[in-house]
Amino acid sequence: MKIVVTGGAGFIGSNFVRMMVSEQSDVEVVTYDALTYAGNLANLAGIVDRHTFVRGDICDAQAVQQVMAGVDAVVHFAAESHVDRSIASSAEFVRTNVEGTRVLLEAARSAGVAKFVHVSTDEVYGTLGDEGAFTEMTPLAPNSPYSASKAGSDLLARAFYETYGLPVVITRCSNNYGPYQFPEKLIPLMIIHALEGRPLPVYGDGGNVRDWLHVSDHNRAIARVLEAGVPGQVYNIGGHNERTNLEMVRMILRLLARDESLITFVQDRLGHDRRYAMDATKIEHELGWTPQYDLERGLAETVAWYLEHKEWWERIRTGAYQTFDQPQSGAR
Ligand code: NAD
Repeated sequence: MKIVVTGGAGFIGSNFVRMMVSEQSDVEVVTYDALTYAGNLANLAGIVDRHTFVRGDICDAQAVQQVMAGVDAVVHFAAESHVDRSIASSAEFVRTNVEGTRVLLEAARSAGVAKFVHVSTDEVYGTLGDEGAFTEMTPLAPNSPYSASKAGSDLLARAFYETYGLPVVITRCSNNYGPYQFPEKLIPLMIIHALEGRPLPVYGDGGNVRDWLHVSDHNRAIARVLEAGVPGQVYNIGGHNERTNLEMVRMILRLLARDESLITFVQDRLGHDRRYAMDATKIEHELGWTPQYDLERGLAETVAWYLEHKEWWERIRTGAYQTFDQPQSGAR
């Protein structure tokens, strides 16, 4: 089976590519990625066999059409993914997440792919009060430009199934953590600040709740959906690990034996969703997926990974990771 993975040089995509190539000997992967600020070829280092890297923009219809020729399936991760950036400027989010997804869906239709997995987020459902969890039937009510652009892409994906019968499956996952996450996101940002003894900026009162899932559990769910997900269906993916941001930050400080006095509360994010929680019963019952990581172990491993890979995040901070003429680590 030959699959195109869009956004495969990013956090979740690169972990997915590594998992597929190392665990499924009958799969050949083409990573298609524009290498925006969030894409990093170092994330694909060491992946040699059955893998090709193609640099390209998902909004480039011609290039997308070329990369999809003769492909069996698409797993679509590529996106602008950071809520804070979408609040500062939303244009790129609409371009990549909505228009880019449309271009991919059109090309997948022309190429006649057998499966199109559209990777989405719990954020499309909006925010919850103290009780309850999102199901696949929860109406979409996105509150940030990021989540609105993801909801737009979900609706296009759905429409391509309903209108053209394109075999689209949508996954919606909760917050991920793990190796190779870009240091603008909560977990790596806090780890790095704590290591350097700098203040840890926590939004508002730190009481916003997220459901945390290790990236490898997310990717095992996507592999399962690629294999057995029913076209036209949506699958929620979550870890049963609801924690406030403050609890997560305190766990990190404990793991690094740093003092809680580093925590600094800063002005809340605009439109900050208070609580997300996922009901993942459908994928558990219908596809037999369950998360394997418990949060304490997953977070301890993640902290250890950032301690062992200082060079990886130092190169991001200095901008050196965006030197494209670097040897492509067998990724080509
Ligand atoms: P990321 O920002 O780490 O990676 C995004 C990748 O997409 C980068 O490699 C970037 O270069 C690429 N990209 C961006 N614009 C592109 C374009 N126009 N053309 C081609 N490539 C482009 O993101 P991530 O955290 O790995 O998230 C991957 C997907 O999973 C996204 O669709 C996101 O919405 C979804 N998701 C993320 C989380 C999470 O917690 N990180 C949770 C649920 C769903």
